[in-house]
Amino acid sequence: MTYDVIVVGSGPAGNTAAIYTVRSGLKTAIFTGLSVGGQLTITTDVENYPGFTKIKGLELMNNIIKHSETLGVDIIYDSIKEIDFSKKPFKCKTEGGSVYETKNLVIATGARAKWLGLESEKHFLGAGVSGCATCDGNFFKNVPVAVIGGGDTAGTEALHMANIASKVYLIYRKSSFIRMNKTLADKILRNEKIEVLFNSEVLEVCGTDNPKSVESLKIINNINNKTSEIKVNAMFVAIGRKPESEIFASAGIIVDEEGYIVTEKDSSRTNIKNVYAVGDVTNKKYKQAIVAAGYGCIAGLEIEEDKENYEI
Ligand code: NDP
Repeated sequence: MTYDVIVVGSGPAGNTAAIYTVRSGLKTAIFTGLSVGGQLTITTDVENYPGFTKIKGLELMNNIIKHSETLGVDIIYDSIKEIDFSKKPFKCKTEGGSVYETKNLVIATGARAKWLGLESEKHFLGAGVSGCATCDGNFFKNVPVAVIGGGDTAGTEALHMANIASKVYLIYRKSSFIRMNKTLADKILRNEKIEVLFNSEVLEVCGTDNPKSVESLKIINNINNKTSEIKVNAMFVAIGRKPESEIFASAGIIVDEEGYIVTEKDSSRTNIKNVYAVGDVTNKKYKQAIVAAGYGCIAGLEIEEDKENYEI
């Protein structure tokens, strides 16, 4: 099967690109990947997507996918595992064993959570260790918890947990908030339920195995090397994300030192002609659904523009 456009990834970025390309008469498919709809589906309430005063992330995402499907985009519930950019049309192999061809490819695969890399973190993953307070925070009502990190995600997650938990330790390796936006940092420092442990790093997650649950964290002060233990029942790791760009990088797409796909300035065009990248896989700063959707729109318009000069 040959498409004009294959979109890899089914979040706001990928769907918006598909909505634009299918409306300009291009035969378009979205490969959903394993997490259909992406990050938005694990977000509870969304209150900053224009047109919706308040909507559940999952409902908004389902609406967006339905929108693509209604316009005639093929929604294919499979993942792309290998791509050959050496000849046109590009060949895409799927996890399910099929091969598809496409004249244009839109990479909209997003980014996944980063972890501290501790054995004990892995051991308690899903049993008190989580990468998303918005998703799992409600399981830790009225008990103490910790959030790790010093960026806007950590700040947002700490504030979110302050409404749920009995106490929130925000554990950050630097001596002040150098990265978090000031309004958020001020809110954190004023919140009586949040205790910020600066210059601190987690050494070990401790707990029981029967049932598997977190009971405390061993931490170290990286200035005086003093270790201590804090009682918490959950650890939310919010130390950034890793873009899902590996298969594209190994096929020749240029990525930066953190793995984000490099595009032309104010554009979705990558270093390979007719390959476009949009959303969190290329944007390390503004990880918002509306921004991702905006970039999806840019890719849709650029594919339309580039159609005139398409070269085999
Ligand atoms: P960031 O990359 O901004 O921050 C990651 C944080 O984790 C940093 O404080 C970093 O420390 C810390 N960190 C990284 N690796 C480790 C490690 N191995 N051990 C301990 N700490 C570590 O990621 P975010 O997810 O917070 O934000 C990403 C982007 O999304 C930002 O541009 C942010 O502004 C944006 N965002 C915006 C929101 C909003 O507008 N409401 C909400 C959430 C995110 P250090 O500072 O020392 O490097």
